[in-house]
Amino acid sequence: MEKYQRFQQFLSEELDSIRTAGLYKEERIIVSPQSVAIGLASGKETLNFCANNYLGLSDNPGLIDAAIQAMKNRGYGMSSVRFICGTQDLHKQLEEVIARFFGTEDTILYAACFDANGGVFEPLLSEEDAIISDALNHASIIDGVRLCKAVRYRYANANMEDLEEQLKAAQKQRFRLIVTDGVFSMDGNVAPLDKIAELARKYDAMVMVDESHSAGVVGKTGRGTTEQFNLRGKVEIITGTLGKAFGGAIGGFTTGRKEIIAMLRQRSRPYLFSNSIPPSVAGAGIYTFNYLENSSALVEKLHENTAYFVEKMKNAGFDIKPTQSAICAVMLYDAKLSQDMASRLQEEGIYVTGFYYPVVPKGQARIRVQLSAAHNREQLDKCIAAFTKTGKELGVLK
Ligand SMILES: *Cc1c(COP(=O)(O)O)cnc(C)c1O
Repeated sequence: MEKYQRFQQFLSEELDSIRTAGLYKEERIIVSPQSVAIGLASGKETLNFCANNYLGLSDNPGLIDAAIQAMKNRGYGMSSVRFICGTQDLHKQLEEVIARFFGTEDTILYAACFDANGGVFEPLLSEEDAIISDALNHASIIDGVRLCKAVRYRYANANMEDLEEQLKAAQKQRFRLIVTDGVFSMDGNVAPLDKIAELARKYDAMVMVDESHSAGVVGKTGRGTTEQFNLRGKVEIITGTLGKAFGGAIGGFTTGRKEIIAMLRQRSRPYLFSNSIPPSVAGAGIYTFNYLENSSALVEKLHENTAYFVEKMKNAGFDIKPTQSAICAVMLYDAKLSQDMASRLQEEGIYVTGFYYPVVPKGQARIRVQLSAAHNREQLDKCIAAFTKTGKELGVLK
């Protein structure tokens, strides 16, 4: 025990300083399936407005049945990585339906999008090459870039003048890859993929977009930013997650040019050295993409819900960040206010989260609302009413 004491002391002090800064993350225990109306361990029921359950598929009976059937027919787990003895027909089928959905040539599955992003750069690029990355890209992209020897360039969020400057500087390198999130999770803004693609052509760069928050959400039929900007099949690399709109369980993928995917199957470390996704997840995934191939009803419902919510909140007098996704940032600017308002909303039965520095820039505190196709009108109205009531109480609204 002796040897642990100093480290224990060190950790306790660090943890205390996290608490003192008000940044300590607590887990809130849910005792129901993930859904719009969720049961909390306290016995309370609350309306969920902070899940990535964009299409409401997390507790969808069709997905659950598909998962059960796959588990019955193909077992519980694979006990192997893909290339040794961990590939079933279900994995190949899921890769195929994902490629069809995005209009790409081939797909490779991962245990999570964190792994897809962690394993995409290092096998493809080396010190002779350049990665040009948006400053607000997801942590997993940042980590993936760190694992790769390519020269790094960074441009201000969605800032095309800055991207052009960085592309000019990167002309020294052999290959260039621009990488961006499709939707940025704090503001809900969409990456200007049309302009990015134009600059990529002008400066001879490839493009990678992480569609985690945009797939199933953005574009007329939810096929993401490449649909929105008419670039289906024109982007070299797309990464995404099965953990958000597509059922929300686990799993990620990289989809795109077939030679790129082929190389990832040879050299991508999270693919080579981590377990295959289980048959139940593959089976439910196939069901989901086949369903979305045939019906855009849920995507349309999500768009309708988001437009309704944003409009009503603006009319109520709230300051809403311009959004092109299912993320709606209600701007409060003050850190303490964002926390007070979120906890008042929780008392009112509305589950949302307040964000402040360092998660968002200083003085940009907000409550982030995430809409779902599963919210009905009554639930949206209840949320808006609760915002209005607490907003008046706390002096946000006059
Ligand atoms: C959520 C998210 C991820 C991580 O996805 P997981 O499958 O949960 O690992 C990666 N990139 C972006 C942009 C995300 O929003």
